[in-house]
Amino acid sequence: MAYEFGEKHDLVVIGGGPGGYEAALTGAQLGANVTLIERSGVGGSAVLSDVVPSKALIAVAEAMTNAAAARSLGVEVFVGDSDTPVEPTYKVDLKAVNSRLLDLARKQSADMTAALEKQGVRIVNGTGRLLNHHAVAADLADGEVTEFHTDTTVISVGAHPRKLASAMPDGERILTWTQLYQLEELPEHLIVVGSGVTGAEFASAFRHLGSEVTLISSRDRVLPGQDEDAARVIEEVFLREGMHVLSKSRAESVVRDGDQVIATLSDGTTVVGSHCLMAVGSIPNTAGLGLEGANVQTTASGHVKVNRVARTSVPEIYAAGDCTDFFPLASVANMQGRTAVYHALGDAAQPIKLRNVASNVFTSPEIATVGWSQAQIEEGLAQGVIYKYPLEENPRAKMQNITDGFVKLFARTQSGTVIGGVVVAPKASELIFPLALAVEQRLTVDQVANAFAVYPSLSGAITDAARALHLLKG
Ligand SMILES: Cc1cc2nc3c(=O)[nH]c(=O)nc-3n(C[C@H](O)[C@H](O)[C@H](O)COP(=O)(O)OP(=O)(O)OC[C@H]3O[C@@H](n4cnc5c(N)ncnc54)[C@H](O)[C@@H]3O)c2cc1C
Repeated sequence: MAYEFGEKHDLVVIGGGPGGYEAALTGAQLGANVTLIERSGVGGSAVLSDVVPSKALIAVAEAMTNAAAARSLGVEVFVGDSDTPVEPTYKVDLKAVNSRLLDLARKQSADMTAALEKQGVRIVNGTGRLLNHHAVAADLADGEVTEFHTDTTVISVGAHPRKLASAMPDGERILTWTQLYQLEELPEHLIVVGSGVTGAEFASAFRHLGSEVTLISSRDRVLPGQDEDAARVIEEVFLREGMHVLSKSRAESVVRDGDQVIATLSDGTTVVGSHCLMAVGSIPNTAGLGLEGANVQTTASGHVKVNRVARTSVPEIYAAGDCTDFFPLASVANMQGRTAVYHALGDAAQPIKLRNVASNVFTSPEIATVGWSQAQIEEGLAQGVIYKYPLEENPRAKMQNITDGFVKLFARTQSGTVIGGVVVAPKASELIFPLALAVEQRLTVDQVANAFAVYPSLSGAITDAARALHLLKG
């Protein structure tokens, strides 16, 4: 069956994660006839299996840590009328926690579906594929195929966890991150293969929830893509908290043996745990999408090549999110989806500046970054001076007994324009925004220093660092 839409601009969006959702909503707001084809649930992996459940799980881990940390500030716990304080132990009911997380995800997906429907977006439950640059097909669950005319198509199909043949997830003890929420009991000993952002976040969370954790990293340090000082802080904290960190260790295989999993490393040693999380990257969901037939160019890894307004090599086809060769972040997917539709429909589209994207690693403490990195400045790719302010010197941090972390600021030599920064702190994700604003608006360190930070506050570390750079910038 083919739909006819008359005079209006027909916008077809394939995939309803943050990229596709935003594209569909923006299209409807701008008056297009919008059809969204989604095969599993609006909100996408971001809502159903990645961002929402993982950050909600991390919130539980934080609650456990805070409860335990209260002891170090002098909080005592008593039972009943007893005058003798007890040493409490905290346990997590993972079945109840997981049920809450999945419920939260389902509700958010339902809210997003309702928001799209309210704007008049037609939601089709099916698998979309390109027929050509003016036609898209949706394969429906009942075997029917529906075709849609399209003036503009936005592909936002996301990605799925990479699986290794030598460590195949079984969904019970060898798991991808999407399968973690089926666990009914806390893993006794979780082996995490991969020390990138996903591996490090889950290793940190499960350690705080009470699991023994072994983190296997093929590189010489955890979080290889992050600021070196920041990664060092996190690795030190991991070790102090009793995590086993195996660096320069490649897991050649992971197999199940009854109630155990055995990871064999490249040097032949083995690590035995109760569960294993494989966090070894993602593969874009671009196979079978009809990209080649429609002449949409992809990279060798299967990611769709896009420019800064999310346009592909075919003018009528745009792409957003993890299926593109941009940053795999929900915030970026969202921005690409909106920018694509603004551009296609003739609204003012701002090309996306990847350099200005703020990102965060939700370990404990968190690492938030924006702008140029120290490594790039040291390589001479950007001219800048660097200042690092240890958090333990900040009055609020002292009051809160925060000893790990820092604020690092990068400023352009002489002009003093803020070109980047790193925050390692509890809730660094909340502290990075003033730096993101400074980078985006090209504020100087003096302008940042002249803004009032609350006293006492962790954000005072940002104005202190900016003040120090007033003298250093040359
Ligand atoms: C564990 C984890 C934690 C993360 N945490 C964060 C975070 O804290 N902050 C952050 O910014 N990012 C985070 N990310 C990254 C974030 O999840 C992704 O960047 C985001 O999901 C990308 O959005 P998207 O729209 O491209 O794709 P997705 O969210 O993957 O959505 C794609 C949708 O397309 C659908 N689809 C696929 N193929 C088809 C087809 N042919 N037809 C119809 N539908 C199709 C899928 O069903 C899916 O619903 C995290 C990732 C992981 C793995």
